[in-house]
Amino acid sequence: MRIPSSPLPPSCTLHWPDENATQRFAVALAGCEALRTATVHLFGGLGAGKTTLARHLLRALGVRGAIKSPSYAVVEPYEVGDLRAWHFDFYRCSDPAEWEDAGLRELLAAPGLHLVEWPQHAALPLPDLAIDIEALDADARQATLRAYTPLGLTLRAAAAPGNSAPP
Ligand code: ADP
Ligand code: MG
Repeated sequence: MRIPSSPLPPSCTLHWPDENATQRFAVALAGCEALRTATVHLFGGLGAGKTTLARHLLRALGVRGAIKSPSYAVVEPYEVGDLRAWHFDFYRCSDPAEWEDAGLRELLAAPGLHLVEWPQHAALPLPDLAIDIEALDADARQATLRAYTPLGLTLRAAAAPGNSAPP
């Protein structure tokens, strides 16, 4: 699956040699205040590491207890202090009308953090940031970050310093 093209700066590519590197990236991204109101689309095949990255992000934001994959429920909500977050997975949605009926559009528009796996199955508007994860082997991942909004550029600069082209 391809991330939609954008007039914004070209993507930057990161290398995560193991899951610890993925976690470090998540901690850096979670440290950015802008994430609290961001929409982040997570691309990549099954097993690429989308849910793993989302879990590390939610943990770094203070979520305690189990962080379930939303692949069956489609969405899992979180509340930590004044942070509201939703983790979506549209893998099973082949028809965009299916999720509109489920009232998910309201959640997608609510203020807070939206982490979305398989956004391409739901015909969503462009996110602030898209992260496309590719498995290179059992542990190593290549991640391509693309910002679509000023907020996304802020996030990209915070999480991948030195890799962000000027706007
Ligand atoms: P997806 O949600 O993309 O289908 P998951 O996150 O459920 O994928 O699964 C990714 C698997 O790959 C997990 O078992 C995770 O522990 C493992 N993994 C190994 N190395 C990494 C890495 N560098 N980043 C993310 N996940 C990794
Ligand atoms: Mg997943």
